[in-house]
Parts: sequence; structure tokens; C-alpha cells
Amino acid sequence: IEIKVCLDSQIHIGSADSSFDYLSYIARSVIHGLPSSAYLIVTDRNVAKFHLTSLEAALHAVIEANARISSKVSTYIMPSGEATKTRETKAGMEDWMLVSGLTRDTVVIALGGGVVGDLVGFVAATYMRSVRLCHVPTTLLAMVDSSVGGKVAVDTPLGKNMIGAFHPAKHIFVFPHFLVTLPAREVANGMAEVIKTAAIRDSTMFRLIASSAADIWQAFKDVKDASGTCMLESRLHFLQSFIASSIAIKSDIVNADPKELNGTRNLVNFGHTIGHAIESLLLPEALHGEAIAVGMCLEARIAVTKGHLTISELRSLRDCLKAYDLPTSMLDFAKCASAPNLTVDKLLDRMAIDKKNAGIAKKVVLLSSLGSTAEKQASIVEDAHIAAVIAA
Ligand code: NAD
Ligand code: ZN
Repeated sequence: IEIKVCLDSQIHIGSADSSFDYLSYIARSVIHGLPSSAYLIVTDRNVAKFHLTSLEAALHAVIEANARISSKVSTYIMPSGEATKTRETKAGMEDWMLVSGLTRDTVVIALGGGVVGDLVGFVAATYMRSVRLCHVPTTLLAMVDSSVGGKVAVDTPLGKNMIGAFHPAKHIFVFPHFLVTLPAREVANGMAEVIKTAAIRDSTMFRLIASSAADIWQAFKDVKDASGTCMLESRLHFLQSFIASSIAIKSDIVNADPKELNGTRNLVNFGHTIGHAIESLLLPEALHGEAIAVGMCLEARIAVTKGHLTISELRSLRDCLKAYDLPTSMLDFAKCASAPNLTVDKLLDRMAIDKKNAGIAKKVVLLSSLGSTAEKQASIVEDAHIAAVIAA
């Protein structure tokens, strides 16, 4: 196990070794590290099917093995999907916790992807003025991105992640074993964030991701079972190294600017200025990573037209995304029923409420190569320039 520290969180990054009892490791770390009268596991319906019973059993086993521990373990299952990341779901969960008599010493364990992590994290941030939180990310996206950095939030009809808080988890348990049940499209979704992270900070990692695409990605798809949900365990070793590198980079960036006060943290938003706007117009048809994949291509094109990035680097970025079955142009969303929404005006409107903006000026992270950025933070880009790239 490799341990990284990001803000107040200990991030435990496990190897993909199938003989390692990761559930027991999680249970021991939580119960011995964060003594409490009550542990609450929150997960969604999909994840519950695969991973809930075994985590519950591991927690009970640790409690039963120690006569001095009499904590109770309870479980709350929420619906799956981005549409449930709302103030209403948060209120429902809070009311349930109050009725269940959960007190301020409760430790909340978010078992799931970024939707569960963001929502449950926000509940933990405000329940009785905040309770301790642990993340057990089960999607690639949650492992490399959403569980790291302390941001928690819910969506509103006007925009994603508009109401939230900073509430770093005490522990984040990153075990690639959970990915065995994740559908290939969701793995690709997380690869978009992995590729983004390499693109802003690490040229060697970028080259490795690009050059292994044929080996690892095609292999994933060749071995998946008829239901399309099973990933060969041996392939997890490849992913594990990308996961560890991504977490190291994101932790560095977050530790240097925890609350986005000096602007350097917004580097992790490469692809997200345009990507978030696309995502909000296509929801629920496009996934976050798919929208930011296209956002990265368009924002990299802005960097090309400003003379920071070469056209051949833009092509390499596109080829890499394509190799992981990610979209690279808005035309790739043509089959979505909401694709006609993707007009320049609507996209600019959505970008106008981006939290990164400086007043009305929009900000975009400009690459200077595949592995570095033109500035130490996002750059102000004129609307006309963004519009021209979108319309092209
Ligand atoms: P998600 O949580 O919706 O998970 C995707 C789907 O996979 C869901 O249907 C889920 O039930 C299912 N699933 C999860 N784990 C599984 C497993 N191991 N096996 C089988 N199925 C599984 O989506 P996501 O992509 O993990 O997260 C997206 C969210 O993360 C967005 O809301 C985004 O805004 C947020 N996000 C937050 C931050 C942050 O800093 N807080 C950063 C990036 C993204
Ligand atoms: Zn993202």
C-alpha cells in the first residue's frame, strides 16, 4: 500500500494484486483509525449489487473480533446516476440519518463513484455541522479525480456542482479491485480524466498512456464478458500505475492551492470550461469524461490558434482519446437526442456561470505541450475566440 497525503486526507493506494484482502484493510483502517459509535455506509443501487455486502461483512468482522468495540454499522442506498445528485436527495438522506439517531461522532463511508462521493461528502460536510468522511471510490473517475481534493457538491437545474463545500475525507481507499465490475464505457470515462492529468503535467505519462492504448484498451474490450461488464484482473495492473500517477499529480496541485485561491488549482479544469457546458446541455446522454474529452480537443485548438501548441500535438491528443473510445468532436454526439442543443450561443450561456470565470471573462487552461500548460493557471480567453473554435 502506498500512502499519499492530500489536504487532511490519507490516500491509501493499493496494488491490483488479487490475493490482497483489501476489504479487511479498509475495515481495519476505518474502525481502528476513526473510533466511533456508528459507521454509516452510503452507496447507490448499482454498486450495492456488487460491493456492499462484502464491505458490510468486513466491518462487522472487525467489530466482532474486538470485545471492546460495540459500534453499529448501518447502510443507506440511494438511486444511481447524475440526476440524483440534488439538494432533494441530500435532504432525504439527512432526514433519514436524523430519524436513525445518528450523532456527531458518526463516520460516513461513501462507497461508489463521483455521484455518491460528491453527494455523501456534502451531507457529511453539513450534517450536525460536519461529521467524519471516508471515500471508497468504485469508478476510475472517482479514484483519480472526484474523491481527491475535498470538493463536495450537488447539482441544480442551472448548473452542475453549484452548491457545495470543501470537506476532505479522512481516508480515501483506492483499490483497483472495485473496477472489475465497472462497464467499459465508465472505464473510458475515467480515462478522460487520466489523460487530462497527464496532458497538463506529465509528458512521459502521456506518452505511456497513448502508447499502451492498443495493448490495454483493446484487451479490456476483447476479454469483457457477454454482459460487457467484466474486466480481466491482470489488466488492472496497467491501470493501477496510471491511477497512482494521476493521484500524485492531483494531490500536488490541490496541496499548492487547496481552495482555488491563487488560481493554480484550476489547472485540473483543462477541457472543463467547454466540457462542462457540453455536459450540461447533453445530460444525461453524455458522461462527464466524454464531454470533457471533446472540451479538451476544443480548448487545445484554442491553444493552437494562440500559438502555444502545435497542430501535431493536438492530433496526438485526439488520437489518444480516440484510442480509448472517447469522443473528440461535437459531431460524435450527433446520435444524442439533445445534440441540437449544442449551439454556440447556448454553450457560451452555460459557460457564463462557470465558477472559474473572472467576472464576465471566461477562463480556459491552455496547453503549451502534451505535459505542460502555457500559464500556471487558466488564461482569460475572449468569447469570440471560444465561439470561433466551437463553430469550426
Ligand atoms: P457515477 O458515480 O454516476 O458512476 C457511474 C456509474 O457506474 C453509476 O451508474 C454507478 O452506479 C456505477 N458504478 C460505480 N461503481 C461501479 C462498479 N465498481 N461496478 C459497476 N458499476 C459501478 O459517476 P462517476 O463518473 O464516478 O462520477 C461523476 C461525478 O463526479 C459527476 O457528478 C462529477 O461532477 C463528479 N466529479 C467531482 C469532482 C470533485 O472534485 N468533487 C471531480 C470530478 C468529477
Ligand atoms: Zn472532471
